[in-house]
Amino acid sequence: MTRRSTSPIWHPFTQHALHDEMRWIVRGRGAYLYTADGRRIIDAISSWWVVTHGHCHPEIVHAIQQQAGELTQIIFAGQTHPPAEEVATGLLRLAPDNLKHVFFSDSGSTSVEVALKMALGYWRNIGAPRSRIVVMEHSYHGDTVGTMSVGARGVFNAAYEPLLFDVSRVPFPAPGREQDTLDALEAICKREQPAAFIVEPLVLGAGGMLMYPASVLAEMRRICSTHGVLFIADEVMTGWGRTGTLFACAQAGIAPDIACYSKGLTGGALPLAVTLCTVPIFDAHYSTDRTKTFFHSSSYTANPVACAAAAANLRLWEKDTTHRQLEHVVDMQEQAIAAFRDDARFENVRRAGTITALDLKVKDAGYLADVGPGLLAFFGARDLLIRPLGNTIYVMPPYCVSTNDLDEIYGAIRDAADALG
Ligand SMILES: *Cc1c(COP(=O)(O)O)cnc(C)c1O
Repeated sequence: MTRRSTSPIWHPFTQHALHDEMRWIVRGRGAYLYTADGRRIIDAISSWWVVTHGHCHPEIVHAIQQQAGELTQIIFAGQTHPPAEEVATGLLRLAPDNLKHVFFSDSGSTSVEVALKMALGYWRNIGAPRSRIVVMEHSYHGDTVGTMSVGARGVFNAAYEPLLFDVSRVPFPAPGREQDTLDALEAICKREQPAAFIVEPLVLGAGGMLMYPASVLAEMRRICSTHGVLFIADEVMTGWGRTGTLFACAQAGIAPDIACYSKGLTGGALPLAVTLCTVPIFDAHYSTDRTKTFFHSSSYTANPVACAAAAANLRLWEKDTTHRQLEHVVDMQEQAIAAFRDDARFENVRRAGTITALDLKVKDAGYLADVGPGLLAFFGARDLLIRPLGNTIYVMPPYCVSTNDLDEIYGAIRDAADALG
């Protein structure tokens, strides 16, 4: 097939044969993106779930500019720097109490890889090796080989299947079937002595914005504790206010053994990730025996400029105004989505904190639903950045979004159902 585009760029999750014209974005401010030809786009998905306080937030931009004049990159083995120390101590103030150590990396996927390596390293170093990982059906933890292994199998990773390692799966706790999930987890923990259970707390993002109650999360944590299985919370998407609390685990009153944060860690300005862990996990690697070292590094571990952005983000979360703004977004989102609860064209109308989602009723529900490309084009033509997951439409705005913006977004969703439903 001949390509229309002259650019050599190969874009992520993009079928160039169907979608070769890229939108040129030259500027971002608050909830808006501006195109080269002067159009204003409302960013209804926070640029793939990363931008929390809005594009080019002045305090984050300022912190980046300041840091760029001081130190932009150093090797992080055997050295440290002020922004990294500030981020680490700031995180310990905000994260669950039992998490006492912070390992830096540069993407959500990497933070999950680090979590899995920490878990296996822990069991090996205490002299009781375990390697089995338990995961939840429909999960997404990243696109590297390790994170694909612990994620849902499907069209996304069919070609790589031979490289993926085997895991044990519990069903998604769909309404009315929560006990099946808990029973399956309990049975696997008893039977297989797994190293760890990894889960996205409260909302499975890429799996289709599937939501489950905090009580189930609390029960899963309890089962893991009872059986001595490490509990890994992948809060890469759910962190930084998305579910209505700073971290989703707080709603279940639980503390994981390992937590992964990225996306909104820098307010969505620069790539950075952290994996937090408990004292026993760190201590299992703390030894004069050098074979027990935690052998992991990325070139850009704790990049100073990214850390400066994260430090600015943490300072924003210390302000009451940020928390009030978050509550305001939760209220606005509830009002907006309520109107769809008895709209017969949609099903599974749902909300978790600032995230709303609804499924357009179609015959072929799922990520490759026929309606998907049409929806994407429809919203694009309305100058909205909304990327449905198949027939699932979701709204995950930056927290500076206005009522008017949301009116436009939900008006377009209604019109899309008229045009395409
Ligand atoms: C996005 C995401 C990841 C992967 O993060 P990247 O920065 O894209 O590598 C991992 N886990 C969850 C839950 C995510 O939503």
